[in-house]
Amino acid sequence: MLDYIVVGLGLAGISFCERLERNNKSFVAVSDNSQTSSIVAGGLYNPVILKRFTLAWKAQEQLEKAIPFYQGLEEKLKIKLDFKVPVLRRFASVEEQNLWYEAADQKVLSSFLSTRLVQNENPMVDAPFSFGEVLGTGRIDTATLLKSYANYLMEQQLFLEETFDYNALKISKEHVEYKSIEARQIVFAEGFGIKHNPYFKYLPLNGTKGELLTIKAPALLESRVIKSSVFIIPLGDDLYRVGATYKWQDKSNIPTQEAKSELLQKLDTFLTCNYEVVNHVAGIRPTVADRRPLVGRHPEHGNLYVLNGFGSRGVMIAPFAAEQLFAAIKQKEPISEEMDISRFTKKYFERSD
Ligand SMILES: Cc1cc2nc3c(=O)[nH]c(=O)nc-3n(C[C@H](O)[C@H](O)[C@H](O)COP(=O)(O)OP(=O)(O)OC[C@H]3O[C@@H](n4cnc5c(N)ncnc54)[C@H](O)[C@@H]3O)c2cc1C
Repeated sequence: MLDYIVVGLGLAGISFCERLERNNKSFVAVSDNSQTSSIVAGGLYNPVILKRFTLAWKAQEQLEKAIPFYQGLEEKLKIKLDFKVPVLRRFASVEEQNLWYEAADQKVLSSFLSTRLVQNENPMVDAPFSFGEVLGTGRIDTATLLKSYANYLMEQQLFLEETFDYNALKISKEHVEYKSIEARQIVFAEGFGIKHNPYFKYLPLNGTKGELLTIKAPALLESRVIKSSVFIIPLGDDLYRVGATYKWQDKSNIPTQEAKSELLQKLDTFLTCNYEVVNHVAGIRPTVADRRPLVGRHPEHGNLYVLNGFGSRGVMIAPFAAEQLFAAIKQKEPISEEMDISRFTKKYFERSD
């Protein structure tokens, strides 16, 4: 009898498996490649919402968990994951500069928004109104993390690479059974794949498609992230990620010409050098109507749990939410009300299927 089965090995699933390992719990992870959000993600962690210059929800608390979490993974997996890199917000006007300074004056934001105006010294970037610098930012190489973590579990035979068959799950009061595996609890972390989960599909997860390009731009020579109408994220070797789009209708992981054109058009408003597009990816962000994660226990089955709904901020939220879920299961500690799926229990009992 195992302690846990974890379904889905994106940022959510990995964060939960890590909680389990660090607490000496036995588990097996089951995952496929049907969702790509964590693999294609830009991987940025940034506590500030750069459209409105406000602090993201619980950003400080999340960062405090996230940084040591990824550092621990770097040591354990012996790979580089956390690339500390400043984020420069390109100003479009003097008004925006003033809004930035007003925001930087606020107590909650003062440690994240630099009050020094960063003049543009890169001839390949058009930025007549300069930049504001966000502090405490960086990029997690999520693709490397996912691959290395799956390999790490595989070596210990703790990973089943398959699509979870919900029909094969037997639930009893004390435990669950999946094929030949018995476990005390099961945690579902399937990202947008939750739509196929008969136990949790009542939750209002919408999904927002995002697409990213990788460009090669040898003349750009930029080492910082630039945020204008799109992000430019340096990867090294003259490669940069450019993104991302937000689309609410199309729920496929297939890259589109429309998104590519949109990204290139935005890029060309402030990038003046030549470049070549070398890659194009897409994924569905697990976004929720009220923009808060979906964490907690099933309304009827006491040994079924969900860890989902990280939207466009999985890098920072995942370690924080996974820790809360684990504490809730193990020590019966309450989950933050804003994340707890009990806010949607009414929907469960009103569902029609
Ligand atoms: C273009 C783009 C850019 C982004 N940029 C950033 C960024 O810069 N910073 C940031 O913090 N966030 C970013 N995000 C958001 C971030 O990627 C998500 O918040 C996060 O990856 C969600 O992780 P997850 O584990 O919940 O879901 P997922 O990454 O979708 O992982 C779920 C896993 O479960 C598997 N699965 C699903 N159903 C089943 C099943 N039935 N059986 C077995 N396995 C199953 C899937 O295949 C997948 O492996 C971005 C997203 C996109 C699309």
